[in-house]
Amino acid sequence: MVRCDERRIVFLPLLLLMAAWVDYINAGAEYATKAVAADKSEDYEQALQLYQQACDRLLLAVKWMPETVCLLKDQTRLKIQEYLSRAEIVKRIVKAEGNVNLAGSGSARLSVPAASVANTTASLDAAAASASAHQKAIRECFVPAGQLNVRWADVAGHEDCKIRLKQAVIMPIRQPQVCAPGMSVKGVLLYGPPGTGKTELAKALATESGCNFVNVSVSLLSNKYHGESEKIVAALFEEAGKNSPCIIFIDEIDSVLKARADGGGTIDHGDGAKAEFLIRWDGLIKSRGSVIVMGATNLPWLIDSAARRRFSHRVYIRLAGEGSGKRILGVHLRGQPFLPAEEHYADRAKRTDGYSGSDIKTVVQSALSKSLEFSLRATHFCKYHNDADGNDYYGPVLPQEEGAIKMTFDEVPHGRLASVQPIYDDFVQAISQTPKSVAKEDLQRYVEWTALYGVQG
Ligand code: ADP
Repeated sequence: MVRCDERRIVFLPLLLLMAAWVDYINAGAEYATKAVAADKSEDYEQALQLYQQACDRLLLAVKWMPETVCLLKDQTRLKIQEYLSRAEIVKRIVKAEGNVNLAGSGSARLSVPAASVANTTASLDAAAASASAHQKAIRECFVPAGQLNVRWADVAGHEDCKIRLKQAVIMPIRQPQVCAPGMSVKGVLLYGPPGTGKTELAKALATESGCNFVNVSVSLLSNKYHGESEKIVAALFEEAGKNSPCIIFIDEIDSVLKARADGGGTIDHGDGAKAEFLIRWDGLIKSRGSVIVMGATNLPWLIDSAARRRFSHRVYIRLAGEGSGKRILGVHLRGQPFLPAEEHYADRAKRTDGYSGSDIKTVVQSALSKSLEFSLRATHFCKYHNDADGNDYYGPVLPQEEGAIKMTFDEVPHGRLASVQPIYDDFVQAISQTPKSVAKEDLQRYVEWTALYGVQG
């Protein structure tokens, strides 16, 4: 008997709460239906009141809805937004100065002249056109799965990060049977100094996971016209949903999700976009779809704490150490018709300690261009026969070398210049001419931030 009473005590408030949000949903839907009818029959004042009542009820429903009905919650939020935007337009019609006539004394009903309706229709058409322009702009940023062609092997080092990304993103897509429900990740932040391979890692993840990839620039998301950024953000998430599995990649994401410098005292132009981003992202987090937000930043400490929490994986992408420097050299020398001797590799890697991946790439390109320069300055060439294609090729040599023919680059027949291997000195010179792009002192802040919020990648 006592147990039975206890159960009643526990469940009764829950049942009441459930009844409350269901009632609010029903009431909201009823008001919304009436609002749309009033809107259609051009009874705008009535429509405005009804839209507002619909939104009030639906907001209460969202407030009391349990997390177990997250999909319904998201749909209700979207409906609220829809009604609010329509209510805004209706409000403008009602307020339209000079265009409003009272129809009949004592009546609150407003009649809206045809011109005003035409203006509204035009503004709705313009809104639809701008929405489709946003969708088009977003679609242009899409790269279908498999077309990026960047693989794990193209990003040297960062082995722990690759494991984390495989576990967080690839496993739930490819081997869902071994992953607990809700294990799939919807937010990954790669942070660290510039040029360390964050973007390349995101691209490799898209290739290896078979996800579509949408790489959106911050400038596209921060449209200067009021309200447009929100629409672009909405279009981004909608298009990504349609193209699931999909990775939304945003470089310099701190610009979109930055915390307010004044702690919230003023209204920032980007606040609307950030709010929209967070709402849409929440929708993703609660859904079962395979859309992931992946951000890269050099300034992770600027990110708003609410956004930071949504990045469940925050991985520090460090500068190349000696070991990975050697591998990065290998990646960028791959495909060359020569490879440096092992001891030269090691020496070059030591000399580039503290360089970013991007700096090392610059070193390789600079060394390669020095070897080409040698051909341009050469006064003598040697003729080599290539048995494989039966052609003769000319390589630059010093005048005293055996078989040296006096000639210049201009005299080398078209397509017959032999590949020239950069010599050790070319690399040494290239390294001395390429300064490190990141100072050691700048790394301390990443270390501190990682200790608080991130993991080493
Ligand atoms: P980030 O996004 O961290 O600023 P990127 O991923 O755009 O840097 O890398 C810039 C360039 O440097 C790319 O062209 C890439 O090829 C090269 N790079 C950077 N890190 C690596 C790496 N670990 N392995 C191979 N190449 C790298």
